[in-house]
Amino acid sequence: MKITVKEIEAWLEAFREEITAHKEELSDLDQAIGDGDHGINMARGVKEMHNLLETKSFQVPGEILKAVSMVFIGKIGGAAGPLYGSAFMKMAAEAGTKEALSAEEFLGVLRAGKSAIVQRGKAETGEKTMVDVWLPLLKKFEGKQEIDWDDWENSAEELKNNTKEMHAKKGRAAYLGARSVGHIDPGATSSYYLFKALADTLRE
Ligand code: ADP
Ligand code: MG
Ligand code: MG
Repeated sequence: MKITVKEIEAWLEAFREEITAHKEELSDLDQAIGDGDHGINMARGVKEMHNLLETKSFQVPGEILKAVSMVFIGKIGGAAGPLYGSAFMKMAAEAGTKEALSAEEFLGVLRAGKSAIVQRGKAETGEKTMVDVWLPLLKKFEGKQEIDWDDWENSAEELKNNTKEMHAKKGRAAYLGARSVGHIDPGATSSYYLFKALADTLRE
């Protein structure tokens, strides 16, 4: 498997479709433990990303990841915007100027994104954030040369569902304390859609 600009574009477009289709779900989840805007925030970001992909052409994966990072930082807003934005910024740096990435190299790119989120948000696993999807998912697949995309998608889904029983320690939901238990984290859910979109794009 080789990942080029074409695969990255298809992945990001699939992500846009997931977010657009689940905008209400994301805002409803955020209504329960936050301020109810996560769907709106993410939908605004992916719409602008779509406009960018329509109007500009890119030579290498790093270039597109960089441009998308700027859109996410500028357009998503809230806590999630800077987190997704930094993730894509670091992913771009890791991808560099390579034209095609192997599965292993691409996993390295995603791990760089994960590190950016952890560095910026300072969340650890178990604190009911998007980190609870990114970190264990990438750990599970670390070092793999081939990825079973069904396993990938199911793992991501299970990880976001696991945030339901967690007590929020970071972000707006932390203000609710124990009352955050019983609700799935909205950012973990949008990250699940990011990884589901990747599986849908790359599975044969
Ligand atoms: P806001 O809370 O500013 O309205 P959003 O609703 O767009 O922002 O995003 C909320 C999501 O951001 C949460 O569900 C959580 O997954 C994620 N999040 C918040 N703070 C952190 C953090 N410190 N580290 C990682 N993720 C975080
Ligand atoms: Mg919110
Ligand atoms: Mg908000």
